[in-house]
Amino acid sequence: MAIESKNPLNNEVVKTFSEEPDELILEKLENAHTTYKNWKQTSFSERSTLMKKAAEVLRNNKEKYAGLMTLEMGKAKREAISEVEKCARCCDYYADNAEEFLSNQKLEVPDGKAYIAYDPIGPVLAVMPWNFPLWQVFRFAAPNLMAGNVGLLKHASNVPQCAKAIEEVFVEAGFPTGAFQTLIISSSKVNMILDDERVVAATLTGSEYAGSKVAERAGKNLKKTVLELGGSDPFIVLEDADIEEAAKTGAKARMINNGQSCIAAKRFILHKNIADDFLEKFKAEFEKLKIGDPDDDDNDYGPMAREDLADELLEQVNKSVDKGAKILIGGKRMDREGAFFEPTILTDVKPGMPAYEEELFGPVAIVIIAESNADAVRIVNDSRFGLGGSLWSQNIEEAQKLVRQVESGAVYINKLMASHPAVPFGGIKMSGYGRELSHLGIREFMNEKTIWIA
Ligand code: NDP
Repeated sequence: MAIESKNPLNNEVVKTFSEEPDELILEKLENAHTTYKNWKQTSFSERSTLMKKAAEVLRNNKEKYAGLMTLEMGKAKREAISEVEKCARCCDYYADNAEEFLSNQKLEVPDGKAYIAYDPIGPVLAVMPWNFPLWQVFRFAAPNLMAGNVGLLKHASNVPQCAKAIEEVFVEAGFPTGAFQTLIISSSKVNMILDDERVVAATLTGSEYAGSKVAERAGKNLKKTVLELGGSDPFIVLEDADIEEAAKTGAKARMINNGQSCIAAKRFILHKNIADDFLEKFKAEFEKLKIGDPDDDDNDYGPMAREDLADELLEQVNKSVDKGAKILIGGKRMDREGAFFEPTILTDVKPGMPAYEEELFGPVAIVIIAESNADAVRIVNDSRFGLGGSLWSQNIEEAQKLVRQVESGAVYINKLMASHPAVPFGGIKMSGYGRELSHLGIREFMNEKTIWIA
C-alpha cells in the first residue's frame, strides 16, 4: 500500500512512499535490539552531548522542518516554527535533567540501606499522530534516548515526510543509526511489531480506537503501554473571571493548531451570569481570525489536516444542530478548495448531542451554561474524557478547591493549557493513562529496580 504525503490546502499528492516490506521492518528491529545493548552502556554525558546536537540540528533547520509540517497537515507556519523550537527545548531539557531524574531514590527501610535504581528496558515503539508531527515524537524520543532506551517510530500515514525528517535529525546529530528509526508502514503492521520480543513496550498518541487496539495487543504480550488519547477539555469561566482575558485566551485555546489539539479547549462551560458578556467577546475573537494558506505568515489559521477529518466534523456539527444546538458563528465547510472548516461556536449544547458526548477534533467551540460553580464542576465531569482543562476566576483560593474536584490529568488556572517539558502530561478516563514529560515521563519506560543492602 502506498503512503501519500498530501497537501490539505489543495489535496495535491506531493510525494508517495511504498510501505516498507516485512524484511526491512525485521532488519530495523534487529538494529534497534543490537544498538540498545551498546546504547544503554553509554554515559549520561555522552547521550547529553548528542541530544544537545539534536537540538542544534532542529534550530538550524527550523524553516525546513516547519515547512514539512505545514505542507503535510496544514499547520500555520508560525505555529510550525514554534513547534520545532519547542522540540529543541525538550531535547535540551532532558539533556540537562535526565541524569538527575534517574538518580537513585533513597528508601526508608528498617535495616541496612535501600534505594530505587532506574535501568532502561530496551526498544520502545511509538505510534504517533499527525497533529503535532514533531512535538509528539520528540517528547517521547528525548527522554527515552536520554534514559538509555531506543525508539522505533510508526508515524501517522499522512505525515511520512515529517516521520523521515525526525530520524534524519538524530542521524545528523550523531546518534547510532539504531537509536531512533522511522518505519514507513501502515497501522496493519503494528501487531507484528508488538508481537516481536525485541520490542519491550509501546506508547501511542491518537484516537481511543487506535489506543485500545495497541493496548490490547501489547497486553496480550504483557508489554507496558502509555496512552495519550483524545480529550474534550473544559474551559470553565466563573462569574468573577477577567472576561476580556478569558475570551481572548479561550479563542486561542480552541483554535490552536487549526483546532486539532488533544488539549484544545473544547467545552466552554460558562457561569450563567457572565455567559452573554463572554460570548460577545469570544465571538469577536473568532471574527478576527485570518484564514488561508498556512504557509502565508499573515494567516492564523489554515485547513484541517485531511478532508475526511473535516467531513467527520461537519457531520458531528450537523447532527448536533438537528438535535437543537445553535450556531453562533460558522458551522460549515468553507466554500473553497482544501480541507477548510469555518471557525465555529455552537451554543445550546445538551446531553445526547455529538457535540456534548464526543470529541470535536477541529475548530468548533461548544458552549454549555452552568447555574453555579458546583453545576460547572458537574458538567465538566459529565464526560468520558479527562485530559486537561482550564478554569478562570480571580478567587485563586476557591479556584484551587474547585479544580481538585475536576476529573482530569491537569487543570490550569487563568492560563492557556499547553504542554511544557517540565510539566507532566497525560489523562485519566478515556483520555488514557501514564504520563509524558517532566521527571514522571522519563520514568515510564524504566525498570525501577529495588536494591537493598544489608
Ligand atoms: P488515529 O488514532 O487513527 O491515528 C493515530 C496513530 O495511530 C496513527 O499513527 C495511526 O496510523 C495509528 N493507528 C490507527 N489505527 C491503528 C490500529 N488499529 N493499530 C495500530 N495503530 C493504529 O487518528 P486519526 O488520524 O484517524 O484521527 C482520528 C481522531 O483521533 C481525531 O479526530 C481525534 O479525535 C483523535 N486524535 C487524537 C490525537 C491526540 O493528540 N490525542 C491526535 C490525532 C487524532 P495510520 O495513520 O497509519 O492509521
